[in-house]
Amino acid sequence: MCEGETIGSNLGRYADFVGLHTTLRLRRRLFGHACRPYTKLPSGILHLAEETCDYWGLQAEKIILEHTEFNYATLTLPEAQKLTLFSNMLSQPAGRCFRRSACGWVGERASRFRYCEHCLSEWRRKRVCPYRILCHQLPGVYLCYLHSNILKGVKKQFSEDITDQTLTALRSKDDEQILITTSIEHKDAIEDVAKRSARYLRGVDRLPSLTSFRDLLREAGLVRSSGETDHRGLIESMLTHFGAEYCWLAGLTGQKMNAWSRNIADVRSTCEPSHAFMFIAAESVLYRRSASPGSFVPSIRKGIRDKEGAQFSQAEIECLRTRWHSIVRSARPDKRITAAYRIDSKLYRTLSRYDHLWFMAYNRDNRTPPGRSLYVPQGIKNSASNPGGD
Ligand SMILES: [Zn+2]
Repeated sequence: MCEGETIGSNLGRYADFVGLHTTLRLRRRLFGHACRPYTKLPSGILHLAEETCDYWGLQAEKIILEHTEFNYATLTLPEAQKLTLFSNMLSQPAGRCFRRSACGWVGERASRFRYCEHCLSEWRRKRVCPYRILCHQLPGVYLCYLHSNILKGVKKQFSEDITDQTLTALRSKDDEQILITTSIEHKDAIEDVAKRSARYLRGVDRLPSLTSFRDLLREAGLVRSSGETDHRGLIESMLTHFGAEYCWLAGLTGQKMNAWSRNIADVRSTCEPSHAFMFIAAESVLYRRSASPGSFVPSIRKGIRDKEGAQFSQAEIECLRTRWHSIVRSARPDKRITAAYRIDSKLYRTLSRYDHLWFMAYNRDNRTPPGRSLYVPQGIKNSASNPGGD
């Protein structure tokens, strides 16, 4: 199993290798039930882990957290529901089970199967078999955050009921880059969504609280002096931020933005929370708006003042976090945090001082060993032996 690979992609590669025309029987054997190809949050993962232990050698918990959309799909769910879904995925399905899938996002027009040409050339160089990356298939993710490269969409039509296709089988010469006419500003915005989605998928971050989102709306100048939220203003900001083409392709409609904004503004709202993608898109635009000077008059600065008077807004802190994250990611894997400290000790000190809680938690989770420990719902952490260890 490659890093960030979907389960189906791996089964497809196996089927190719041994010459199977369909993965249906293989899936039944591995999952212990008839699990259809392209199921995003499958059940029977304990069974799958046992069946594949000689081949993958992965704990069931690790399969769920690193090779399914679990972290992303449950981003907006309360802890109790996350736990229920997690244990449902471990065991066999009992009748029609609860499914909250990241494909619950409707109206996306871009191809569901996307890949990065730069990843492909890298694999070619390293003689790695091409595979489908989980993160590239998330709603609105049209850019490879590793290569800052716009993804290509698979054009080929195929039946999703028979087998798991490999990326090699899906690709064709007709495939085109998504968003051909994108400007630099829009590309930045789209890259931001890709990065945030990747981080949420890996379980590195939690979504800001609803209260923080209300603060962000205020900071972004989208709350009138009467206290009313400027829903139209938010929709316009999103259109400007991402560009109409992206919104159209991603199915980011005015209706969805409006619903999100009203939900956030209404403190007593009991509605089903919006999709993770809607939150990520809104988060991206609000941080950008708060960060660009002149676009509004900040009513609240959530920054922290130091003795010299240096002040960091939430957006600036975000930038520092992103920088630290990319340094840690690129640092030598045997001593991540120490190596990252050597690369930028100033950044280390700044974050340690001004964003202490996040910084400590992030470093703890990304230290080696015990490895890239991902978000594990409470209660599971103790019962599983070293789920995140590598
Ligand atoms: Zn790439």
